[in-house]
Amino acid sequence: SDRVETLEFQAEARQLLQLMVHSIYSNKDIFLRELISNASDALDKLRLESMIDKELAADVSDLHIELEVDKDARTLTVRDNGIGMSRDEVVRLIGTIAKSGTAELLGKLRESSDAGASQELIGQFGVGFYATFMVADEVTLLTRRAGESGGTRWESTGEGTYTIEAVDDAPQGTSVTLHLKPADAEDNLHDYTTEWTIRQIVKRYSDFIAWPIRMTVERSGEDGATTSEVQTLNSMKALWARSRDEVDEAEYKEFYKHVSHDWADPLETIHMRGEGTFEYEALLFLPSHAPLDMFAPQGRRGVQLYVKRVFIMDDCDALMPNYLRFVKGVVDAHDLSLNISREILQQDRQIRAVRRRLVKKVLATLKVMKTAQAERYRTFWTEFGAVVKEGLLEDADNTEAILDLVQVASTHDPAEPTTLRDYVERMKDGQGDIYYATGESRSMIENSPHMEAFRAKGYEVLILTDPVDEVWVERVGQFDGKPLRSIAKGEVDLETDEEKEKAEAERKDFAELLSWMSGKLADSVKEVRLSSRLTTSPACVVGDAHDMTPTLEKMYRAMGQ
Ligand code: ADP
Ligand code: MG
Repeated sequence: SDRVETLEFQAEARQLLQLMVHSIYSNKDIFLRELISNASDALDKLRLESMIDKELAADVSDLHIELEVDKDARTLTVRDNGIGMSRDEVVRLIGTIAKSGTAELLGKLRESSDAGASQELIGQFGVGFYATFMVADEVTLLTRRAGESGGTRWESTGEGTYTIEAVDDAPQGTSVTLHLKPADAEDNLHDYTTEWTIRQIVKRYSDFIAWPIRMTVERSGEDGATTSEVQTLNSMKALWARSRDEVDEAEYKEFYKHVSHDWADPLETIHMRGEGTFEYEALLFLPSHAPLDMFAPQGRRGVQLYVKRVFIMDDCDALMPNYLRFVKGVVDAHDLSLNISREILQQDRQIRAVRRRLVKKVLATLKVMKTAQAERYRTFWTEFGAVVKEGLLEDADNTEAILDLVQVASTHDPAEPTTLRDYVERMKDGQGDIYYATGESRSMIENSPHMEAFRAKGYEVLILTDPVDEVWVERVGQFDGKPLRSIAKGEVDLETDEEKEKAEAERKDFAELLSWMSGKLADSVKEVRLSSRLTTSPACVVGDAHDMTPTLEKMYRAMGQ
């Protein structure tokens, strides 16, 4: 009919779909987890919207997810009666990928010829709805937004275009029908039209989903007659509300994947409960890798807020400071109003108290990991260290705890980073300061002329290469009472008394030359002086103690200042 329009997928979407159609991901079962996860989100959203908007013409009497199999047609349908999508939402949410980091991911995928690495990248990114094209050669989505009258049918084979059509008689919510690729005759495990297979997958990946996942199953009775009955496949237990010894590792992992949209396992799980004046439960996770959008201003944050099992919001920034934005999970606070706004949350005294507790707990967990599981901690710090260091600028209450977590490269051992504590323990007799150098890379720093005197004296120098380093060392100023001092700034006093006398004599000898050079170079430098810094280079340029360092200067220049 003329109501059917054919539209093109956005370029990035098309490329990702190609990867799915040609299935570079080996665990195809997870397509079902993705669909159930979307259905569950849609039910959460509808419940919340209907509580806030009493006028919403929506049916919330029996919110659920339904799975339906047609063996002859080889189709599997996942249906929910949740929020649904308007036509424009379908085009925007299904036809394009808004996730930041998409272009970067695709670039990396093109570069890597190694299948394992590609899988890992796809896994980190999470392809959501598109995962259906690993198992289906055609997907139909029928949806009607709660409160609206008309519905939308969307259809695609995953090959560049999709069709979209207005329909009059769609039920509230969304149903996604997969036309399954031909089954591998050998492979019963992955035949998604068999009850047993579906049951296994739901149990494994979606058991904790808070809405019933129903399926009609056939049973043959003793007299040979078949009866059918509707069964609920999941236990629906809110994981965070259970006690720790009732939850096993696999359940935690799957829950993490649901809340984080990550396909990889978490690095660490934190399950805690607050009692007393303000009751809450928290189930938090530290991911095993940084998301692609960690430094993007619009990047997704991690913690969801629930009130007594009711989903309230994603990305609850009031619960986690910026420098812990990679922490994922759920906080269920018992005494909040259901239609609390983000703005009010930021001001709420109790929420602030919960946030303080959560931050302390995360930092304490990291401290334990650092001592008890050094390898694991190394992974953590490599992925998230640059973000955690932002806390040294933001969170004055926890400066000590964060400094304890910091690992930095150092001239002491090219292969191993050091802690500030270990640096202090190795300081030489008479060394009062902690020396550091900032720059773009280790090799640049090591080859800088500033390094020569320190190398000659055998002083260890910390090598700081993250942009944030420059700022926090200034702000924090000292560790354990020892000033943090840049080797590129001001007079660094590395001389013994004897050397000082010698230098004084030299200064006299060279006085005339120096004042002549100062005159000649007056436009470019403030002063020309003799230095004990250098051993092999004839001269170098240094900043004043209060000047910007070269990296900082470059950073500001890049920012157009
Ligand atoms: P993600 O879930 O990570 O956002 P998906 O690819 O799984 O990515 O889904 C994209 C978007 O499409 C979702 O964020 C949601 O807005 C919308 N969507 C998908 N499935 C449904 C559904 N069953 N009901 C309503 N909206 C849906
Ligand atoms: Mg999803």
